Amino acid sequence: MSLAASTALRRCPACRGTKVTEISMTLTDGSPVDFVSCRSCEHKIWLQGDRTLPLGSVLTKAQKRR
Ligand SMILES: [Zn+2]
Repeated sequence: MSLAASTALRRCPACRGTKVTEISMTLTDGSPVDFVSCRSCEHKIWLQGDRTLPLGSVLTKAQKRR
């Protein structure tokens, strides 16, 4: 028996808790990212694939250039 990849447990890097909410979205520049929010300690992170994105990087990407 093996777990499907999509249900792999995401752990909070701050408290190691597994009560995390994960939301997939696409930034305005087309980058697919996952927003992970910990329900135990309120820690929030952004992931692009297996990489953790600094919050500042996400905000820059999310800005609309006009
Ligand atoms: Zn946490």
